[in-house]
Formats: sequence, structure tokens, C-alpha cells
Amino acid sequence: MLSETQYFLTEQEKGAFINGKFHTDIVGDFVNVVNPATESVLAKVPICNAPIVNKAVEAAYDQLEKGVWSKLLANQREKMLLDYAGIIESHSAELAELLVLEHGKLLTDAKKEVAAAVNCFRYYAGWSTKLEGSTIDVSLSGGDHFAYTKREPVGVVGAIAPWNVPIMMFAWKIAPALACGCTVVFKPSEETPLTALRLAELSLEAGIPNGVINIVTGKGETGQAIIEHPLISKITFTGATDTGKIIGQNAAKLLKEFTLELGGKNPVLVLDDADFTKVPAGVSKGIFYNQGQVCVSGSRLYLPKKRFDNTLADMASIAKKMKLGSGLEKETQLGPVVSESHFNKVMGYIEAGKKDNIELVAGGEPWKEKGFYVEPTIFANTANKEVSVATDEIFGPVITAMPYDGVEDLLQKANATEYGLAASIWTTNLKNAHYFADKVKAGIIYVNSAVRSDPNLPLGGFKQSGIGQELGKSAIEGFTKLKSVCINYS
Ligand code: NDP
Repeated sequence: MLSETQYFLTEQEKGAFINGKFHTDIVGDFVNVVNPATESVLAKVPICNAPIVNKAVEAAYDQLEKGVWSKLLANQREKMLLDYAGIIESHSAELAELLVLEHGKLLTDAKKEVAAAVNCFRYYAGWSTKLEGSTIDVSLSGGDHFAYTKREPVGVVGAIAPWNVPIMMFAWKIAPALACGCTVVFKPSEETPLTALRLAELSLEAGIPNGVINIVTGKGETGQAIIEHPLISKITFTGATDTGKIIGQNAAKLLKEFTLELGGKNPVLVLDDADFTKVPAGVSKGIFYNQGQVCVSGSRLYLPKKRFDNTLADMASIAKKMKLGSGLEKETQLGPVVSESHFNKVMGYIEAGKKDNIELVAGGEPWKEKGFYVEPTIFANTANKEVSVATDEIFGPVITAMPYDGVEDLLQKANATEYGLAASIWTTNLKNAHYFADKVKAGIIYVNSAVRSDPNLPLGGFKQSGIGQELGKSAIEGFTKLKSVCINYS
């Protein structure tokens, strides 16, 4: 283990990070952060209650209204975000290792996640100096009025994140919020709070003033206290659809702005003109990357009838050869899922699939006694039954394949879900690519690829997969309020 990681885990006292300091004097309940590869306890963090959340929100509000942050010029914010990106980059090795320890993902993927967060901060640094409004023609009497719009920070942002890509979530929410001049109270998932705490601590090295980024650890009650705080103006939430519904209702009752990035049961549409030399590996990557714990993973696979058996045989051969193990071991291709409760949920779905008599083509068992490992699992639902492995978001390394018969049948099946987050289309025909990209109801469509993101590419769900969008210019719109100014110069 790197000495910095060791120090952070064993020496550094960790509490909520408020106003530039760890608050280690919090009394009450704590939650253990567990390494999913070994089941050993890495650290414990407090469950922050409403008075602690209040301290964090007040620190953020002070900076927003009257602190150094509120007085910075746009290019000074830009410089701070660029400096922050550089500092995160210089701590990449340590952050990636900490991420593997708290989450279980592969070290190579953890390094890519840190690099993606660095890119995200650099991308949004540039937006700091590009906020703009418009001049507006108004037809007011006398013709002697001048009107314009401008963008202002939405206020103190309450950010509530899941555990699947903890460093990326930190960047996706905090980078655009800061670029817009907002300040933030961020609640990481109880499963993976350590990287957020370390990232917040590192923000001070970039000169980001105390109180601009605050972290409150805890469970749902902590998130609830953020939403209910009167000085929070906007909630940005990523997580499960059921949680999102509660959060949306609570935020709406208090007339707060909110965006919800929610779950998916994403279809993979393999057309009969696809390049079948690439499909098995591409689709496998799309479901087994990060142990299937990605909101845009393709978990419902639609194959043409005549290609069904061969393609599944190729995928089963890939799955059976995958090397399971700790994310820190070089040869590992699939790590553990994030926690014991999530392991039980994923295994529960697999057992339900078996009971529903869906053919198991690969995997289906836990691996190793210690650690939360699930074999890469493939079901063949040849009769297209309405069963939970085919309809529910499992958020694990589990894919269910179904045959289809013709274009309209494929489209009907792909859209027959309450979700609408992502879809992946495999074809060599440009016309088909556009046709399906238009007709599939999902917020992001991948053609001949899967599970990709770019800071400039907006991500948001249709139907039960969310409201609003993250990334790109959309996030800038989400963290600002448009103000209209009308001047009578007569
Ligand atoms: P959850 O919805 O369980 O939790 C998300 C966050 O919300 C956690 O920090 C959680 O706290 C908190 N929370 C739970 N209940 C409440 C509440 N009542 N009020 C306020 N906050 C609350 O999701 P998971 O962490 O299990 O993440 C997996 C889900 O996230 C999947 O459904 C996945 O699809 C979705 N996701 C969506 C993405 C997208 O961009 N659309 C991207 C990534 C994931 P805690 O867990 O600490 O108790």
C-alpha cells in the first residue's frame, strides 16, 4: 500500500469535512467502510445528523454570499479549478488505490476514473469564463428599454451520490457547480466516502477557500437533512429510481431545483448486419466493466434468432475465462461487488432467475468465501418471459439475452421498459444506426460501443431514469439561474 494511502487510512482522523477541516468530534453513530475484496474494515465515518449538516450548509452559504469565493472573478475560479485538476492528477496513484480499497474495482479502471475526474475539472474550469446571457428585444412603449439576461449561481448545492463511480460522481457534480460560482455540500454513499473526503481535503491545496466544498458522511437521513435545509437551493442526485422519487417529492415540496440521474435496464440491440467478430467482446465489456455496476451497462441483450446460440456461446467462453480477484492484483479482470448487502441483492436476482427456469449459460455462483465476488453471469431467456432478471435493474455482472424476430419486434422489446437511460446498438449499416438511435427511448445511445462518457456529452434519463441532465453545457444550465434585467434609459 502507498504510504499516503496508509497514512490516510490509519493516521488521519476522518469526520465530516466542513469549512476546510475534518470534524472528528462528532458524537453518535458511525458506519464502517469495508474493503469488498477482503471484508476487512478500512475506516469508520460518522453518520452526520441535521445539526452537522446545518454547519456544512452554513459554511457553504457564507462563502457563497460574503466569503472570498463570492468575490472571485470568473478567471480566478477557472484558475483554481485548473489548479485543483493538477493536484488531483498529482495524487492519482494514491486516489486510485483508495478507490480500489473502498469500492473493489480494478486498479486500471480506478486510474482511468481519476483521469476522467481530472478531465472533468479541466473541462468545467473553461466554462467558468464562458457563462453568458443574451440581449433581448422588448417592445415596451417608447422603445427606450434595453433588456438582457444573465446567469447567476443557483446557490448552495446539495449533492447526493451513489457508490459505483465515487470519484467521477464527485467531479461530475462539483466541477460544474464550482465553475458556475456555487458552493457545495456533498454526501457520498455510505459505502464509499473515503475518496470524497480525501478529494475535499486536496481542494485546499488548490487554494479553493474553506467552506466551498463540504462533505457530510452518512446514510439516507443525512441526505434528507440536506434536502430539507432552507439554505440549499438545488439538489443534484444520482442513485436508484425509488430513492430518486422520494428525493424529487421532498425537493418539490420545498420548491427546490433538482436533477435526478436514476437507474436503467439498458437494452443492447444487436442487428443481423452487426460485425459479429466484435459483438461478443463489446457486449461483455458493456456489462462486466466495473462488475456491471454502471448505470449505463447493457443488461438486456437482444440477438437475432439465427445468431442467438453462437453469440451466447462466444460470450459464455469470455465470461468463463474471466479472472476474478482483488482489483489490486494485475491479472484480475472482475473484482468484487461493492458490499455484502449488494452481493445479497445480486445473488438474490440470480437465484430468482434460476427458479424462473431461465437457462444459465455462464456463471451464477458466488466466487470465494471471503469477499463479495459474483461470477460473470449470462442467462438465456429464449421464451422472452417477463421475469425479474429480464426486467429489473440488477446493477451487477448479470446479463439476460433474448431472441427477436425482425426490426419491429426488436424495437418493441427494447422500448418495453419503464426505464430509459441508455441503449447500445450494434450494426454496420449507417441507416440502421440512425433509425434505431431515433426510435429507442433512452437518454444516451451508443452505436458499436458501450459505457463511455465525456465531460462534453450530456447524460440524462428518459422515463423512470431521471429528470434533467449532467455534464456538458446542460450542467451549466442546471447550476445557474437565468435573471432578466430590463433598463429604462429614457
Ligand atoms: P441509492 O439510491 O440507494 O443511494 C444514492 C444516494 O442517496 C446515497 O448517498 C444514499 O445514501 C442516498 N439516499 C438514500 N436514501 C435517501 C433519502 N431518502 N434521502 C436522501 N438521500 C438518500 O443508490 P445506490 O447508491 O445504491 O446506487 C446505485 C443506483 O444509482 C443504481 O440504481 C444506478 O443505476 C444509479 N446510478 C445512476 C446513474 C445515472 O447517471 N443515471 C449513475 C450511477 C448510478 P446511503 O446509500 O449512503 O445510505
